[in-house]
Amino acid sequence: MSAAVSVFGPDFPFAYDDWLASAEGLGALKPSRFGTRVAVVGAGVSGMVTAYELMRLGLQPVLFEAGRMGGRLRSERFPNTNDVVAELGGMRFPESATTFNHYVSLTGLHTQPFPNPLTEAALSTVIDLSGETLYAENADDLPSIYKEVANAWQQALNEEASFKPLQEAIKNRDAAGIKALWDPLVYEWDDRTFYDFVSTSNAFKNLSFRHREIFGQVGFGTGGWDSDFRNTMLEILRVVLTACDDHQSLIVGGAEQLPRKLWQHEPENTAHWPAGTSLSSLHKGATRGAVTAITRANNNTFAVTDQYNSTESFDAVVVCCQSWLLTTSIKTDESLFSQQHWMALDRTSYMQSSKTFVMVDEAFWTKRDEKSGRYPMSMTLTDRLTRGTYLFDNGPDRPGVICLTYTWMADALKMLPLSAERRAELALSALEKIYPDLNIRRHIVGHPITVSWEDDENFLGAFKGALPGHYRYNRRMYTHFMQQDFPSSQTGIFLAGDDVSWTPGWAEGAVQTALNAVWGVLNHLGGETHTTNPGPGDQFEQLQPVQLPE
Ligand SMILES: Cc1cc2nc3c(=O)[nH]c(=O)nc-3n(C[C@H](O)[C@H](O)[C@H](O)COP(=O)(O)OP(=O)(O)OC[C@H]3O[C@@H](n4cnc5c(N)ncnc54)[C@H](O)[C@@H]3O)c2cc1C
Repeated sequence: MSAAVSVFGPDFPFAYDDWLASAEGLGALKPSRFGTRVAVVGAGVSGMVTAYELMRLGLQPVLFEAGRMGGRLRSERFPNTNDVVAELGGMRFPESATTFNHYVSLTGLHTQPFPNPLTEAALSTVIDLSGETLYAENADDLPSIYKEVANAWQQALNEEASFKPLQEAIKNRDAAGIKALWDPLVYEWDDRTFYDFVSTSNAFKNLSFRHREIFGQVGFGTGGWDSDFRNTMLEILRVVLTACDDHQSLIVGGAEQLPRKLWQHEPENTAHWPAGTSLSSLHKGATRGAVTAITRANNNTFAVTDQYNSTESFDAVVVCCQSWLLTTSIKTDESLFSQQHWMALDRTSYMQSSKTFVMVDEAFWTKRDEKSGRYPMSMTLTDRLTRGTYLFDNGPDRPGVICLTYTWMADALKMLPLSAERRAELALSALEKIYPDLNIRRHIVGHPITVSWEDDENFLGAFKGALPGHYRYNRRMYTHFMQQDFPSSQTGIFLAGDDVSWTPGWAEGAVQTALNAVWGVLNHLGGETHTTNPGPGDQFEQLQPVQLPE
């Protein structure tokens, strides 16, 4: 039993971390199944975890990747440096992401606290709203209205969402306790937005609109939550209940190392494969290219076609890319999924996101200004178009990195048609209004790096952001690995990844859904888990997410 809050439920309170940690392993297949080929579409973290665990079970995963290994864990190296990176996708990983962190430890990666607003790692924070600029080294430095907002949010969570007892049940891994409290919230909040929650809560109702505005801009944890105001409140409740927004770390050298290291990792005690086998060695050093078609072939196998029109046969397929791609870039036999699943897949809603980074000669913000005693530049939250500016100190005698702007939804769309240079220019102009006496430009070296995830045909969006009324769709996607009641024409193909998970935008969910798919493949190929280490499918009956009436 874990004493800390982790991403244990609340929808499906299964201990993925314990399942992984058990000496029994994830399960066993009959030797006749060893070496069976399974196609894994997408070499992001969910595809890599899926492939890694299928290899450990003695299967032969075959990874296909349309773009770059790592997917949305993309650490883009600044040109002409060896290891100075811009984290274009996932960049901060909570302590509570215990399944994701299992692989961080396994691959020997180092972490350090992420410089979030008002944390020690940030050194200082500037909040610039409606033209008022505030400097703070901790929350107590801010005017009392900020405390009132923080208190109102906590009060609203306690009064409207059983926050304390629910988080206590999560901490104690009390699955029945979680269900008793969470399931009624699903009925109550699936249809209602985050904004509805804030604006109708007793805690905020009697406060000014300004309080709500401040909450939207500064919010909790990582800041900038008004981009999520239109999402279903269930999305936000999951984030706060499972502490995804607290105690976050970055991966030193970049998050992309995780999938890349898993690719190279040589696990001990795999079934079937000789010592020294890795995903890289099984693939002779390179993944296959993009998948362009998936169809049902003879003998209940699948035909997977790649971008060069080469078709191979597989006994099972795990699709780990954004699921919309099954209707855009991958020609997928309609009969492989029920119409209910197609409906859920098509209705999945993605959020947009853009980031722009520059490299600077040094982490100049770490030296206090002699006159004012303040740090000259800070982690900055603002209602200007930069929204969030993050500062990364890579250590002495090394260039620093500034994420000039990190935006979501409408704020990200403002950037969409613009070049990296124009985005950087706009961001710098906004920051100059906040820091009129600071010459940031003087420190910049090299070219800016930018991303708009919605502008990339291999993603079409940053991550899922479920809208009101989407719970049923999310449930269909998440539980798709339980195929015992499906017609045989729809079995053997599995979905995993960020947009199948209950916690989109958090790599932990991508990893947990990868493990569901691993259980699904194991079961599909006649394998079993160990009786003392049951998997997600074995415990599905008791733990399954509540079902709303159709
Ligand atoms: C801007 C941003 C910020 C984020 N911040 C955080 C954070 O701070 N903390 C956190 O925990 N998480 C964060 N996330 C979420 C996290 O990055 C994702 O949950 C995770 O990386 C998703 O992994 P995945 O394997 O599900 O999907 P992906 O990483 O999308 O992997 C899917 C792969 O499939 C490939 N592909 C697409 N089409 C095909 C095809 N036809 N054939 C073969 N391959 C194909 C894609 O190229 C991609 O590499 C963030 C994401 C974004 C975009």
